[in-house]
Amino acid sequence: MTYRGRFAPSPTGQLHFGSLVAAVGSWLSARHAGGQWLLRMEDIDPTREVAGSAAGILAALPAFGLAADAAPLFQSQRRSAYDAAFEQLRGAGMAFACWCSRSELALDGGMHRDGQCVAPANPDRPPAWRLRVPDVAIDFHDALQGPQREHLRQSVGDFVIRRADDAYSYQLACVVDDAFQGITEVVRGHDLLDSTARQIWLQRCLGLPTPAYRHLPLVLDGDGRKLSKSDRAVPVDPASPLPALRQALAFLGLPAPAGAVDVHGLLARALADFDPALLPQCSGRSVD
Ligand code: GLU
Repeated sequence: MTYRGRFAPSPTGQLHFGSLVAAVGSWLSARHAGGQWLLRMEDIDPTREVAGSAAGILAALPAFGLAADAAPLFQSQRRSAYDAAFEQLRGAGMAFACWCSRSELALDGGMHRDGQCVAPANPDRPPAWRLRVPDVAIDFHDALQGPQREHLRQSVGDFVIRRADDAYSYQLACVVDDAFQGITEVVRGHDLLDSTARQIWLQRCLGLPTPAYRHLPLVLDGDGRKLSKSDRAVPVDPASPLPALRQALAFLGLPAPAGAVDVHGLLARALADFDPALLPQCSGRSVD
């Protein structure tokens, strides 16, 4: 089977150092395996989108030498695929309409479990739709972080797959698109490790394959917090890509290649040294 990896940014800001690390880590993994590297723009949530950032990210990646093997997939154009997955879950009795608000759930311990709503059905308001989560332990092996086990009923309960404003959740869209793009290994930041069990459960409910997973250490700021686009982390500069690319490679534990004068030379040397087994195994660290 051909290895297929992907980078799947959300357009909530320009490419910053943390997302560059995820992009480089997934690119190196795909190229090392002799496989393909695909892009997916996760633009399904207009309330979080920053105008111009999708185009900005897509323009920045080639400046860092990261060229994808196919045109990017835009989640904003995938509504009918999410509708079909949703109908499949609803038809199988696995999804249910829910009018419970966060504050109502907070009074009841904060979590929705066993399909038990605290709020009554309200025909005047559209519902959110949740996936019913049974008492099941999801076991998986993360290629970098080791064996994982999550009891989904305890940790997240019945989770939202379609919001009351009609937007599909990241979890549903991600699972449908990883399958559609034929992804064999998901390489992404450690902050998404705790989404993985939900995604594996959704794959099982939908009869979709489960890819391998490798969660890279997160880039933390000096106070130990995640650098994220929505916190307006300083974007990397595509006009001067070498310093950030060197730093991203160093963050991933690769020796600084001497002598490379452009991004392609730098990536080629990094690829020659790359061994996924030698990636740093922590959940996050700050930049040296
Ligand atoms: N769109 C997500 C983000 O930018 C990443 C999703 C994924 O890699 O599964 O955080």
